[in-house]
Amino acid sequence: MNPKIITYSPAYTLVPTYECFNRCSYCNFRSDIGTSGWMSLELAETTLRSLPPETREILILSGEVHPGSANRSAWLNHIVELCKLALSLGFLPHTNVGPLSHSEMAQLKQVNVSMGLMLEQFTPSLLKTVHRHAPSKEPHLRLHQLRQAGQLKIPFTTGILLGLGESKSDWVESLETIASVQSQYGHLQECILQPYSPGEDEVLKGTGFDLEQLPEVVTIARAILPDSITIQIPPNLIALPETLLACLDAGARDLGGLSPIDEVNPNYPHPTATKLRQILEPAGWELQSRLPIYPQYLDWIDLNVEILPDRVPHCADR
Ligand code: SF4
Repeated sequence: MNPKIITYSPAYTLVPTYECFNRCSYCNFRSDIGTSGWMSLELAETTLRSLPPETREILILSGEVHPGSANRSAWLNHIVELCKLALSLGFLPHTNVGPLSHSEMAQLKQVNVSMGLMLEQFTPSLLKTVHRHAPSKEPHLRLHQLRQAGQLKIPFTTGILLGLGESKSDWVESLETIASVQSQYGHLQECILQPYSPGEDEVLKGTGFDLEQLPEVVTIARAILPDSITIQIPPNLIALPETLLACLDAGARDLGGLSPIDEVNPNYPHPTATKLRQILEPAGWELQSRLPIYPQYLDWIDLNVEILPDRVPHCADR
């Protein structure tokens, strides 16, 4: 019998800044404005040059500078420079830095092979609770971002957060919203189903998503989302191997970027590919690495920087 395929992206996360003007109560990432500074290009280059050769994806993940801040354009330009640096060293950037204007997103398209933004949940009820102090989490603003990425033909990753006080019907509404965007633009390559997992730096101090429900969420997502969207689950947030395998049986087909640190959930280190194979192979699954851009979108790449052709094999022929 042929093995069943499950994918992951060998990745590393660069953080331009942990400073963020939002204050999501479950956040274990942010620092206050003016307290931690910005990552220098020199440090980024030293870090990138030290990465193992199998690393392909550089996830650029940043706290947000307010759209009205005098620092906004400098922040955006710094992210562009980090992407260019990653490209110049042969990596493939994937940027996720919060809501962007049309021109900001268009600028980043020129230095990324794909981008991302979680829808989180489409219900506005979370604006009264965990997102009370997070204007970037306004659901229609995030839906607009998904559409804007589609208009710009940017291969995109989105997803939903689970266990923050939403209902099952909220999951359905959020997933139907994602499916609707995909039917219009076809640019969503992945949907992450991310269980809220409490960390030691957050304000919320919640109990976390009941992981026994995760296979059910995968089943619901697989029924609602078109086949063109791969369902991704984060293996470091799933404590039991049997839950992970149940999620794959329900239709999950990707484990996301595996990097030394999960910057969003720093209390939950990623398992190595070797460790994952020990769980997956006895159950008939073959773990394969992938690029941060899915093959069907390679013709959408529109970089203004030369990249090393061996990193995206089909680009050598273009
Ligand atoms: S979750 Fe993201 S947007 Fe919210 S406070 Fe943390 S870094 Fe900022």
